[in-house]
Amino acid sequence: MDRIEELARALARFPGIGPRQGKRFVFYLLAAPATERAKLAELIVSLGKEVRQCQDCLRFYNGSVATICNYCSDKTRDDTELMLVEKDQDLSAIERAGTYRGRYFILGGVLTLSGKGAIREKELLKTVGKRLKNSLKEIVLALSATSEGEHTADRVRELLKPYRDQVKISTLGRGLATGSELEYSDAETLRAALTNRK
Ligand SMILES: [Zn+2]
Repeated sequence: MDRIEELARALARFPGIGPRQGKRFVFYLLAAPATERAKLAELIVSLGKEVRQCQDCLRFYNGSVATICNYCSDKTRDDTELMLVEKDQDLSAIERAGTYRGRYFILGGVLTLSGKGAIREKELLKTVGKRLKNSLKEIVLALSATSEGEHTADRVRELLKPYRDQVKISTLGRGLATGSELEYSDAETLRAALTNRK
């Protein structure tokens, strides 16, 4: 296949990127110095080697030795709280807000009303089971204030039904504007949403 076409198609698979943008990227790269292309290629290759996925929260982090990330291994964090977020970037937003000191689990996506999408259901149940033995008291659903977020929260509540007597399930207070994604919410809004969880 035509190399330009081949790379353009590969780039078009990125979230939010279509065929036309994919092609724009290719022509940008063709005009860029060879060193820039080499650096980019190297960074992509190193992702698989120097970035690991945490065995507990399933987030990606820099490191080549540990099997769990710094949030999961930090003994000063609160084991009684487990926050469920859609993606790694949401966890970063919560950390930037700076008030939450519990543990995390990354669902890895959302469920759409039309039945598309997937979340890590098996892993979630495993984590909750394990954390219940380790003083877990509250699960905080920190999902986007979108219809997908709501739908995903419903599914998570259904999954966690067997644990209803052992753990409290709360959701972020809707200081978050309807339709807003957690990732793009400012720290002040997130702090308020955390304080007002119900
Ligand atoms: Zn972790």
